Amino acid sequence: MSVLCLLEWDGAGIAPASLRALSFGAAVAAPTGDDVTAVLAGPPGAGNVADDALRAELTAFGAAALCLVTAEGLTGYAPVAWARALQQLADGGTVTAVVAAATDRGSEVLAHLGAITGLPVAANCLSAVPAGAGCWQLVRQRWAGSVLEDALLEAPLALLTVATDAIAAEPPPAAADAAGTKLADAVLPVRRFTAQLDDADLVVSAVESAAEAGGTSLATARVVVGGGRGVGGPDGFAPLEELASLLGGAVGVSRVVTSQGWRPHRQQVGQTGTKISPELYLACGISGAIQHMAGCLGARHIVAINTDPDAPIMSRADYAVIGDLAEIIPALVAAIRDQRD
Ligand SMILES: Cc1cc2nc3c(=O)[nH]c(=O)nc-3n(C[C@H](O)[C@H](O)[C@H](O)COP(=O)(O)OP(=O)(O)OC[C@H]3O[C@@H](n4cnc5c(N)ncnc54)[C@H](O)[C@@H]3O)c2cc1C
Repeated sequence: MSVLCLLEWDGAGIAPASLRALSFGAAVAAPTGDDVTAVLAGPPGAGNVADDALRAELTAFGAAALCLVTAEGLTGYAPVAWARALQQLADGGTVTAVVAAATDRGSEVLAHLGAITGLPVAANCLSAVPAGAGCWQLVRQRWAGSVLEDALLEAPLALLTVATDAIAAEPPPAAADAAGTKLADAVLPVRRFTAQLDDADLVVSAVESAAEAGGTSLATARVVVGGGRGVGGPDGFAPLEELASLLGGAVGVSRVVTSQGWRPHRQQVGQTGTKISPELYLACGISGAIQHMAGCLGARHIVAINTDPDAPIMSRADYAVIGDLAEIIPALVAAIRDQRD
């Protein structure tokens, strides 16, 4: 028996949110001795999976196998097609659960999978423990993580999205040990699966995305450079864009910024925006209101740049830089450029 974990690709590799979902999947599978198959559907970077480093990374986060999904007409993100492929992989009764990071894409694909199979989807899970045949004891986030709910899910196949901001960024120790053993013996097995799709499954299909063009999406970026009211206006974002680009990251913003119309809502981080879980969140000119922090507490490291030493974000940050972002960001950009020249 196995658990399937849907992976997302970002410009630099497997999205950190997906690696965390993989850890979650390994924890879900462990009590019953099941294993986790990572599923990667039609990404442009699929050719890279032969890469040993990538296989090692997936193994370290708990994967026992990697399944590469292809299909005629599938060139990238297509939510119904991805859901259809997962349904076909789960067909046959050997899969107990399908998990995905609770990103926009993970949530959308699992919603379609729920609709296709007629099964319930439990969103924003923190843990899922088997509690008898077809029964799962869940803990999941509600109200942007401010409330944890205990729930019982009864379903022959558990469909779970994972609150990845609350899952550790590191590989779980047990999986890491197992990875050490497995890697010594063999590399992660890779199998290919051709999904059978109808035209209707491909009606919605992304024709272009930052992540698949080699850029990064906010939800899955390894580095996010955040800007708040302290940036001062729409023109103030150019240095932040430059820094994000140098670091291979994405720009995220506070709600003040989107409310003012300085940046589009899709860049908003927080309770009513995107939840991020990067390796580094560089929050510039952001006070750290609770609704903003609800979206970024999954960051492995938070560095805050703020003129106010008493801003709430300063006590939540790993490193706090007290100063004017208009001076600090250009200095950072210049230092990075110098080092690379
Ligand atoms: C229901 C609800 C949902 C919400 N959802 C969200 C959400 O999803 N995301 C979100 O972000 N907010 C959300 N908010 C709004 C939230 O409460 C805050 O108002 C908002 O996050 C504040 O944005 P800010 O930090 O950019 O601005 P401010 O709170 O005004 O902070 C600006 C900061 O910039 C600093 N600063 C100023 N100039 C400089 C400079 N030159 N250099 C360095 N620092 C400087 C200041 O010291 C200050 O700390 C929500 C609110 C509600 C009620």
